Amino acid sequence: MMGRSFRAKISPSDNQAAEDELRREISKDKFTQMEILGQFNLGFIIARLGGDLFIIDQHATDEKYNFEMLQRNTVLQGQRLIQPQSLHLTAANESILMDNMDIFRKNGFEFTIQEDAPCTERVKLVSMPVSKNWTFGKEDIEELIFMLSDAPGVMCRPSRVRQMFASRACRKSVMIGTALNRGEMQQLLTHMGEIEQPWNCPHGRPTMRHLFNLNMLPD
Ligand SMILES: [Zn+2]
Repeated sequence: MMGRSFRAKISPSDNQAAEDELRREISKDKFTQMEILGQFNLGFIIARLGGDLFIIDQHATDEKYNFEMLQRNTVLQGQRLIQPQSLHLTAANESILMDNMDIFRKNGFEFTIQEDAPCTERVKLVSMPVSKNWTFGKEDIEELIFMLSDAPGVMCRPSRVRQMFASRACRKSVMIGTALNRGEMQQLLTHMGEIEQPWNCPHGRPTMRHLFNLNMLPD
């Protein structure tokens, strides 16, 4: 009898254990090696890798892919303010902002810098992201500064932008109840191998679970 790599049950209380197993056993290249067995209940893909069968939530996994692509690639369009706005940041926060202007720009925030102005008056906001359903403001700038003080130079998004991307990703992803052909299912699995964290959708729901090992079936 082969050793069992997957022991977690499909149950909310076993979510962390299940995710740990998947992360350990399924390296990114494994997704393209999976064989699609079919679609179940117009919502799930059943796939086989060696003796192991997996079930994949078609909406959750597509949503996670679309979300990560938005996080990675979107440059938010800023809208010019009628008048540049002082932010009254501390000197330390001004420096963090000035060192990371490109990250702010990708989030739709642009500034003018006046090097010779007194501290707390050096930075003025000139452009801010706009969206029909979301309002952005100084809190988002402060949140970004806080994140960047922890991880300078690392691309990040304010939580409101994350939420906006999560709802956009949801709307553009394949819905439960949609019939998929083999190529479409294959594409969803291929995408799982191309993202950082394929195990949960942006709202935290699992994308994939181990069903069972065929070697465990009685002869
Ligand atoms: Zn959704």
